[in-house]
Amino acid sequence: MLITQLKSKEAIADLIKGKTFIINCHGCKEVYFPEYEADKIQKELSADGDIIENITRDYICSTDNLHVQLKKFMDKIQEADTILVFSCGVGVQTLARFLEDKRVYSGCDTYPLPGIQGVTPMEFDCGHCGECYLNYTGGICPITACSKSLVNGQCGGSKKGKCEVDKDMECGWERIYRKLEKLKKLNTLNYPVKIRNYQLPFDELPKDV
Ligand code: SF4
Ligand code: SF4
Repeated sequence: MLITQLKSKEAIADLIKGKTFIINCHGCKEVYFPEYEADKIQKELSADGDIIENITRDYICSTDNLHVQLKKFMDKIQEADTILVFSCGVGVQTLARFLEDKRVYSGCDTYPLPGIQGVTPMEFDCGHCGECYLNYTGGICPITACSKSLVNGQCGGSKKGKCEVDKDMECGWERIYRKLEKLKKLNTLNYPVKIRNYQLPFDELPKDV
């Protein structure tokens, strides 16, 4: 089981650049999602920013599902400068791959909770690291896409795009670089790597979680 927690309002407001399309995911019962707080923040941000659509879907971590769920919104999605997603790290990664040419950002951080996680096979992994990097790394998770979970760039060992730890695997950091280059967002690689806060946000959870 895992928890998604909203980033600060300031951090989310900072992500809204130009026309913004918001996607919420409420699909998965293994994930606690702060629906009320997300709705409140999104309403406040709508007053200031150019939110061209705000939809809620389930299981956005499934690419097949996305094809169906987003079909009628694709014109608006293409029109948008920013896709802002409120889901766990797997959902954001799936959307970032599905909308390869768009800037896809996460409004949430993902934390672990003790217990059994869902068993649905997914294309992407989230390590529930608690301070999501996807907004700096083109929607590719450095914790799970890099064998060493490096958060400050490539180790220097990759050969011909393959990871030095696992030669069947593409180097996660080469993928991140190529993706940011394509999005013209290489400047985001200058993000500060901070000392991490591993404290779980249990005191902010409702009692029934
Ligand atoms: S950076 Fe990766 S492990 Fe951390 S919350 Fe984001 S998707 Fe999950
Ligand atoms: S080669 Fe790439 S994916 Fe492999 S450990 Fe080094 S940086 Fe990470």
